[in-house]
Amino acid sequence: MAAPSLAMAPHDEASVELAFVEPAAPARLLSSQFPSKVGGRPAWLSLQLPDPERLLCGGCTRPMVFLLQVYAPRDRAFHRALLIFCCAVPACPRRRFAAFRSQLGRINDFYEPEPEPEALPGTRPGPRLCRVCGASAPKSCSRCRWAHYCGKEHQSLDWKAGHREACGRPGEAAGSLSSPNILFPEFELVMELEDSEDQKLENLKCVESKSAAESDCVTEAIDEQELEAMAKHESEEDRIFAKFKRRIALAPDQVLRYCRGGCPLWVSGENIPSKTDIPNCPCGAKREFEFQVMPQLLNYLKVDCLEESLDWGTLSVYTCEQSCDHGNEYSTEFLWKQDFSAEQY
Ligand SMILES: [Zn+2]
Ligand SMILES: [Zn+2]
Ligand SMILES: [Zn+2]
Ligand SMILES: [Zn+2]
Repeated sequence: MAAPSLAMAPHDEASVELAFVEPAAPARLLSSQFPSKVGGRPAWLSLQLPDPERLLCGGCTRPMVFLLQVYAPRDRAFHRALLIFCCAVPACPRRRFAAFRSQLGRINDFYEPEPEPEALPGTRPGPRLCRVCGASAPKSCSRCRWAHYCGKEHQSLDWKAGHREACGRPGEAAGSLSSPNILFPEFELVMELEDSEDQKLENLKCVESKSAAESDCVTEAIDEQELEAMAKHESEEDRIFAKFKRRIALAPDQVLRYCRGGCPLWVSGENIPSKTDIPNCPCGAKREFEFQVMPQLLNYLKVDCLEESLDWGTLSVYTCEQSCDHGNEYSTEFLWKQDFSAEQY
């Protein structure tokens, strides 16, 4: 039996779990295995998929690509997954990211209450998926009717990449996946506790300060920026980046840091969100920090060949503190992108 990548135990808020990429057999990355993973197609948790419209980039209106997902059950959600999509269009003027949350009870519409043995791909009928990106596929090829797509864009990509020849050809398996490879390379995300005593203390401080009027981790750097002169700003910037590098050095290959209710590790003093930058969940509850994607992940995505490559300092994901229940629907959560400041390049 494949153990879920993330501990099922209630989360210790003072500790950080780090994620590393590892190659994995595709069977371990299927929805029924509740994986944490990078790239490839999404391992949808709820099989009532979000409408493809919700996966369009707000900058260029073209479909976003699946980046990664983290399986992170918690007290009120037996199964719970957070999925991130991003726009990988090199010419996009405002490359967007999107974060979704899906959660299900132990008794649900899609999975057995007991863990399932590793399944072979395609052994159970699932929702119709786009052949190109793995999103929900309301459109089908009008000639063969077995090739499904999220929309016109991926249908036309697939047509050019070989469906023109394969369309309607007998023997072409309906489930076979197509050739235009717009997806990121696929890996399993494996979690490990960060091993650092002073880090734990620092994080504990941060969790405690959340009850204070001003949350230290959110506003500290900004207040200082506003109050201090340029010279001071530069040393503050150095301090934040030095702290970032020091923490990363403990495990240089980490691609993600998970610490629900904790603090992100900022790469820069610039563009740190204030409390008001993080919108409440539509249910009315606050959103809290849950995990951050590190720049090291970019090394595994083969994006440097893109003309204007995908880039970030860190991506911080904030989720509903109550993890409110929307049945089989995917909720939208909040993602904040922080870049390295200019002098860090
Ligand atoms: Zn875009
Ligand atoms: Zn698609
Ligand atoms: Zn066709
Ligand atoms: Zn909520």
